[in-house]
Amino acid sequence: MRSEMGGMGRMGRMGWMAWMGGKGRMGGKRWIRGVGTLLLSLGTLPLLSVVPIRAVLPVLPIPPVAPAFAASPQQPNTNAPANFIKVDAPVLALTHVRVIDGTGAAAREDQTLVVRDGSIAAVGNGASTAAPPGATVLDLSGRTIVPGLVMVHEHLYYTTGPGVYGQLGASFSRLYLAGGVTTMRTGGNVNGIMDINLARRIAAGELPGPDIDATAPYVNGPSTFLQMHTIRTADEARRHVAYWADQGATSVKAYMQISRDALRAAVEEAHRRGMKVTGHLCSVTYSEAVDAGIDDLEHGFLAATDFVPDKQPDVCPGQGRGQQTIAALDANGEPFKTLAGKLVDRHVALTSTLTVFETLTPKRPLPPGLDVLVPQLKDVFQRAYDRAQQNEQSIYATLFPKAMALERAFARAGGLLIAGTDPTGAGGVVPGFSNQRQIELLVEEGFTPVEAISIATLNGAKYLGRDGRIGSIAPGKQADLVVVNGDPSKSIADIRRVETVFKRGVGYDPAKLIDSVKGQVGIW
Ligand SMILES: [Zn+2]
Repeated sequence: MRSEMGGMGRMGRMGWMAWMGGKGRMGGKRWIRGVGTLLLSLGTLPLLSVVPIRAVLPVLPIPPVAPAFAASPQQPNTNAPANFIKVDAPVLALTHVRVIDGTGAAAREDQTLVVRDGSIAAVGNGASTAAPPGATVLDLSGRTIVPGLVMVHEHLYYTTGPGVYGQLGASFSRLYLAGGVTTMRTGGNVNGIMDINLARRIAAGELPGPDIDATAPYVNGPSTFLQMHTIRTADEARRHVAYWADQGATSVKAYMQISRDALRAAVEEAHRRGMKVTGHLCSVTYSEAVDAGIDDLEHGFLAATDFVPDKQPDVCPGQGRGQQTIAALDANGEPFKTLAGKLVDRHVALTSTLTVFETLTPKRPLPPGLDVLVPQLKDVFQRAYDRAQQNEQSIYATLFPKAMALERAFARAGGLLIAGTDPTGAGGVVPGFSNQRQIELLVEEGFTPVEAISIATLNGAKYLGRDGRIGSIAPGKQADLVVVNGDPSKSIADIRRVETVFKRGVGYDPAKLIDSVKGQVGIW
């Protein structure tokens, strides 16, 4: 372990451990001190006094347990979606707007898009598509509409300490929506019920946020991870999946120490219940997982251990060993082509999560959105980032561009590439902002801007089996739309300039959503 990791330096090691999920200790003294400060400041809050609490936590998105926190009935509900809505009308005509429809087709200029009762009623040339009588007309000259993002490796938790993942679902769901995400799959759950409860309450219109495909808690074998179940046998895997499906989970994620038998059983139980299974793997190779019936593989090819020469069945050789083989892999060579071809033939999707790897890679820009974090977590990430930037020997210098080359080759071979952002690692992957960054990185990877947008919209919808309703802009589809200022088909950075996010035809104000959590992300 030491020799593999030795060249990576402290940042590489820490980022690695966080990303791989807490095998062993994580981080150095600086990290611990930063987090200790956060924990200390939380621990010393005067929990039973009234005024200071409201000053620190002005908005509590879920009715809290302690009666001292409960809003009195006459107070306005600050968590209601209505507080963040800026456009809501039964019939809307969005005029003079550029449309990128999510299919990969070229942008179309000067379009009119009619939204009625939450669905797209018409879209066409401004000259031939009239705004219906009585419609609320919004002139969107200079703007572009893209489909609401469908992102499939999201989390409602964040790295808040060494090996500890704090539940930030309440703030994260607002940030995801603000960033343009209208549908997301959580790619793993370390808490249990929060993903499921948030999915329900958002669906019921009680809280703002994207539609959530909620994963069950990770299906994993024995590990040192404090927030994961231990599943040793096929029978335990079946019971875990069945229990969480009954609780309301709608998808399953396997993790690094799962056995082939347990994975196969989890897949069988999930499929029997109409759920899909993805995995961040290590103990099971990609090829073995395909044979076990898995539907999706996370982190591109960076979690593949297929090429580790002395790989023992059901044993994770260390994510580092796998990554060394991936860094050395030839995207045009037969070993890779055979594996990628197997995924394509068996219709197994691949999730790109470039955002989390970028935070670990030297000579990369600071990720966007850090200002929403509580200052302590922002500082912790800044120090981790500084160390990554200075790490001349980081494997990610080779691995990050290789990850891009392999994903691109998979997609060009006909594979279904989907996108997510994975807010874990050493921090710095901030929901909403990260989703926009992921699309920029797909362009850097070699896709055209409209192709990158298609990967982050229609491809995700196809994977979820919901492309009949979401993922592209066409009559009859749900009016999940993102209005950006500028033209992302020419300059992908314009994808960050989100002005309004429509979910089922209701327009949310990203600035209000972000302001409501600013400086507090890390607490709730
Ligand atoms: Zn993840």
